[in-house]
Amino acid sequence: MSRSATETPVRVAVAGSSGSIGTQTLDVVRTDPDRYRVVALSVASSVDMLVEQALEFRPQFVAVGDAARRAEVGERLPFATVVDSPAEFAEHADVVVNAVVGFAGLPVTVSTLRAGRRLALANKESLIAAGPVVQPLRNTPGAELVPVDSEHCAVHQCLRSSIDAHREVSRIVLTASGGPFRGRSAADLQHVGVDEALAHPTWKMGPKITIDSSTLMNKGLEVIEAHELFGVPYDRIEVVVHPQSVVHSMAEFTDGSTIAQLSMPDMRLPIGYALAYPGRLASPFGRIDWTTLARLDFMPPDTTAFRCLPLAYEAGRRGGTAPAWLSAANEVAVDAFLAGRIRWHQIAESNERALEAYEPSTGSTIDDVVAADARARAVAEEVLPR
Ligand code: MG
Repeated sequence: MSRSATETPVRVAVAGSSGSIGTQTLDVVRTDPDRYRVVALSVASSVDMLVEQALEFRPQFVAVGDAARRAEVGERLPFATVVDSPAEFAEHADVVVNAVVGFAGLPVTVSTLRAGRRLALANKESLIAAGPVVQPLRNTPGAELVPVDSEHCAVHQCLRSSIDAHREVSRIVLTASGGPFRGRSAADLQHVGVDEALAHPTWKMGPKITIDSSTLMNKGLEVIEAHELFGVPYDRIEVVVHPQSVVHSMAEFTDGSTIAQLSMPDMRLPIGYALAYPGRLASPFGRIDWTTLARLDFMPPDTTAFRCLPLAYEAGRRGGTAPAWLSAANEVAVDAFLAGRIRWHQIAESNERALEAYEPSTGSTIDDVVAADARARAVAEEVLPR
């Protein structure tokens, strides 16, 4: 089907445009500039990149986290209005891509759903940490949450094969590449360095998520994310290691039938899915070559060498602010590892100690979640080995 030339373009706002997901979102827009128009861009501090992107896409709005540089940005981009925060973008966009890193992405998630817009969510921390706050906002008329995480995008697609997925899905199976340390024992992993942990075999991503992939914390957080997104209980969400990263996840239904989503590992695909939903992008990002794809392997995760995965299940089952607590503690531990303050295996140890010290609360308000996040960071700093 061809599109009418007079059809209004989809207005796209990108919160966190300088990172891996942000720049790949702009790649997707470049493939179909008649259909997608960038109306807003934000960065935390990468001002030069923001200016370069804005000169190409001419957004009406830009936001810069670093307040000291806002005047400069205003001067360099006379056609754009500089706003205080990407949380203001929702009023002006049809889709907000939330590609902010970490807990800082929460205001964008909240404002987008509250404004009744589509949220293309790459910031998994906001849903994981603030599930009880975010869930009711999904009922806002017009609000839509489409995950920009390859696994959840896959599950989202698989569930569309059922007319009543809530009743008919019996199991979600999230695939994991296993990261750079797949197959290595706990003893073997005592001395791995930052460079090795940052060398992901299949996905090119930002440093925080790449370290989380090496510890399987990323997969653990994705289990919580799947629970929040699809409402499936934890005992029906499983993780399977799949080194080729071609099967992005699966849904099994009550009749025993499993639907899987397969594609080449390219984040522009889930980004494009979220922009085009409920339609499809007009052109592909990579195609599977069935003549060279010799095999698809699956194996159980090693939860002894990769303790972060069972820790995430534990936090998810405890509910309330436990996921927020673990996620915040993990951000502290990952920062400490990247700064050379702790060893790789100590990330899981720190997270475990921090979760043992969890101070329960319901997390039903943003203040509650912010307090849990702050408290968990303080506790995590205390339990870091010195
Ligand atoms: Mg993922």
